[in-house]
Amino acid sequence: MVTYENGPNAPVTHTWAQSHILNLISSHHVDWIFTSHWLKKNNENGAPCSFPNDKTTGFKIKLYAHLLLSADIQQRNYPDLYPRRPLLCTECHSDIYNNSHIGFCPAHLTSLNHDLNIAATYLCSLILSSPSAPPGTTDILPLIRRSSLFSPVFNINHPIYLLLHQLVPEELISVISLHIRSRKNGMVIMETFIQYFYSQITQKYWRIHSSSFHSWELSCRITKRKKK
Ligand SMILES: [Zn+2]
Repeated sequence: MVTYENGPNAPVTHTWAQSHILNLISSHHVDWIFTSHWLKKNNENGAPCSFPNDKTTGFKIKLYAHLLLSADIQQRNYPDLYPRRPLLCTECHSDIYNNSHIGFCPAHLTSLNHDLNIAATYLCSLILSSPSAPPGTTDILPLIRRSSLFSPVFNINHPIYLLLHQLVPEELISVISLHIRSRKNGMVIMETFIQYFYSQITQKYWRIHSSSFHSWELSCRITKRKKK
């Protein structure tokens, strides 16, 4: 089995991804109760048992387990269809394309940092518009930006990696509870913000990678029909 010891450009295995998550969790604690609640929350369209809901839950679980169909997973599933060599990301052409790469692609880092700034502003607006917002509060945004979650991203060691893989950092809850005393209203803000992050950031980068890799697959005549 290939491990990280083979070098940072070696294919990332499921085992390595788990180790990376564990390392991150040791310094950026995860709220497991809220994470469990978020993973189960799949009623985006208001219908509890529909196909779109199952699809959303499935997508979240794949993000969590690093099982989205990136190059390494496709190579594992179809060893005769894909080249045996490590496959580079079709966006940056420099790093291996695996689940850990999503969001942290060098070609997307500027955009991700911009998105995080917007997300910090959005979180600030959620707090200020809450019925539990402390009166006269205006200087929340600098405090939010001071959180490590919204600090500049350079690589996958950033705590935002956890949120991209559907784990809710305790720090996010702390940032909100610093201003919102009501647990109920704090949870409403949490859910709204995590949903925003999921739809506006996590899904955005996955779609870019998925579409780009699909174009490469077609250029190599790797089609769905050949996978049957
Ligand atoms: Zn890349």
